[in-house]
Amino acid sequence: MNIQYIKGVGPKRASRFKKLNINTVEDLLYFVPRDYDDRSQVGDLREFKTNEKATLEVEIIGKGNIIRPRKNLSILKIPVRNNMSDGYLTWFNQDYLKDKFLIGEKIIVNGKINRVGREIQIMNPVFEKVGKMDKVGRIIPIYPLTEGLTNNEVIKVIKYTISEYLHGIDEFLPLEIINKYKLMGIKDAIINIHFPGSKTLLENARKRLAFQELLTLQIGLFTIKNKTVGNNKGIKFKETIEVTEFIEKLPFKLTNAQIKVFKEIEKNMESNVQMNRLVQGDVGSGKTIVAILAIFKSILSGYQAVMMAPTEILASQHYESFKNFFKSYDIEIELLVGSLSPKRKEEILVNLKQGKIDILIGTHALIQENVEFNKLGLVITDEQHRFGVKQRAILSQKGHNPDTIVMTATPIPRTLALILYGDLDISIIDELPPGRKEIETYAVGKEMIERVNNFIRKQIMDGRQAYIVCPLIEESETLEINAAEELYINFKDNVFKEFKVGLLHGKMKSKEKDAVMEEFKNHRLDILVSTTVIEVGVNVPNSNIMVIYNAERFGLAQLHQLRGRVGRGEYQSYCILINESKNPISRERMRILQSSNDGFKISEKDLELRGPGEFFGTKQHGLPELKVANLFKDMDILKAAQKEAINIINQDSRLNAEKYRELKKTIQNLFSNSGENLTFN
Ligand code: ADP
Ligand code: MG
Repeated sequence: MNIQYIKGVGPKRASRFKKLNINTVEDLLYFVPRDYDDRSQVGDLREFKTNEKATLEVEIIGKGNIIRPRKNLSILKIPVRNNMSDGYLTWFNQDYLKDKFLIGEKIIVNGKINRVGREIQIMNPVFEKVGKMDKVGRIIPIYPLTEGLTNNEVIKVIKYTISEYLHGIDEFLPLEIINKYKLMGIKDAIINIHFPGSKTLLENARKRLAFQELLTLQIGLFTIKNKTVGNNKGIKFKETIEVTEFIEKLPFKLTNAQIKVFKEIEKNMESNVQMNRLVQGDVGSGKTIVAILAIFKSILSGYQAVMMAPTEILASQHYESFKNFFKSYDIEIELLVGSLSPKRKEEILVNLKQGKIDILIGTHALIQENVEFNKLGLVITDEQHRFGVKQRAILSQKGHNPDTIVMTATPIPRTLALILYGDLDISIIDELPPGRKEIETYAVGKEMIERVNNFIRKQIMDGRQAYIVCPLIEESETLEINAAEELYINFKDNVFKEFKVGLLHGKMKSKEKDAVMEEFKNHRLDILVSTTVIEVGVNVPNSNIMVIYNAERFGLAQLHQLRGRVGRGEYQSYCILINESKNPISRERMRILQSSNDGFKISEKDLELRGPGEFFGTKQHGLPELKVANLFKDMDILKAAQKEAINIINQDSRLNAEKYRELKKTIQNLFSNSGENLTFN
């Protein structure tokens, strides 16, 4: 049911909830507080330090008194007693409370402690009758909010929703799992995640909800991938020395990290178990050549290989570099992208099916149904975070258990990798090729923009090029594009009117985007104003400045990715972060980027700073968002949930048993909300 029809909500409030992604009664019941204010423990007035928040049971012992130290300020003080000590409830500009209480009345209050000389004050306290346990004597939920919606309003709506609609939520976890892990029932868990009866109950509620979240996510994922869990039989590629010879002929020496990772891949390929490997390596660490080696090995055993990249620009970049690396070999390489003519496409598809093509590189165009291989042995996905789990699975299914490699510059924490890939192996290229110049990074305030612009001007006069990235506006792509257009026009017509300025944003057709990128690459543009669409792997060595507006709005890992667009050539490169936030955490985040060029360290730090309670990652991968589970804290729960998911899938992959009926429905709902249509078969 739409929440608009809940008593006390109505269209206006509903639209505010909508901003928080809450549309249905169920969304409300699962609207998890971001934090809690523990007002459950009543204490002793003397034991609290100044500025500490105290919950106290007090007796009113005198009449309220109001003083007016200056215009627009009145201070109300009501004397109270707590155990053996006296103090004052103190309010600013709330005269109406003066006669609210009777002498001798006992109330519970919660407020900050203040000391003036020997006098103890409880500042602007919230209060209620002893035993009411509504606002004070309990743990109060603190919800993520949006404009026009207060925490108290949310609390009211949720209370009402629980009392009216919770009965409609049924237990869906199989009883045996509930018993085995002593999980709280679903109704109790929902009540206690909002209004915990105690800290222990809160912890149990959280554990139950995290477990269900991870279990359903995991079962759904196994189902999408449509594969049995565990080791699949795979292709046994030949041992050869030709790859070694190929390596010796490369124009550069592989780094130790590249050698190590390729050895790991080689071992997998030569075994008869299907390879499923994630290769992580910072931007510029040289992942492509590792892919090329694996592909060469696959071809030497008579198999075809395919490599999928998220954009046409990237795909054709790979195509060019593959052709170059293999120029003295008799290897057929083709590029399959959306912009090819139908005739050319047809030609490629026919040759592919007949086995005349050894390596096919492309974009999403590769996963279309009519793309059929003759003998596909190796599937590589570049910048995997740009693809959904399903898209990768479709590509793999074009062969018979082909070996797979996914490559990424975005570090994934071990826990998330476990969820996303189950038994995936991970290789890390943790070393950059020698001779790279460190990118100099500066974080500056808005007042420095003119100096930044002068700096850009000077670099362009020296023959360089610059990227300017516009603020990320999460709420609206349209607003984001407007911001980019505005900046573009200002640059083109004012600030940099002597230079050639281009614009790139997500609503442009991919043909238009490619054309602009091509112009920038060929130095027909000096400055490229863009939204974050340039994030992924584009290579323009002459561009040595990256300016990022409203840098505080980006994740650190994303800033690091953007920064990786420069520093690709022989020139000293610069990244300038324009930070408009005075928030200390945001400054700390900028400092981390200034002091480190190590993507893995940076994302670890980022997660640390974001702290528990904020989750990340799954949404990017096209999966339902985690609301409760914390991928750092909940490793144990994750392992247990994963184990049960494997059990369930292995016993009954379609979840046809009666005991799984509700679970199956829940999983289907969950995934359909995030745009995946799950069919269990
Ligand atoms: P990424 O890991 O970001 O995909 P690439 O594979 O595109 O990085 O490599 C970046 C650049 O470094 C390419 O021009 C590539 O040819 C070069 N490169 C790769 N490995 C080495 C190496 N061992 N020594 C020198 N240059 C290398
Ligand atoms: Mg790359």
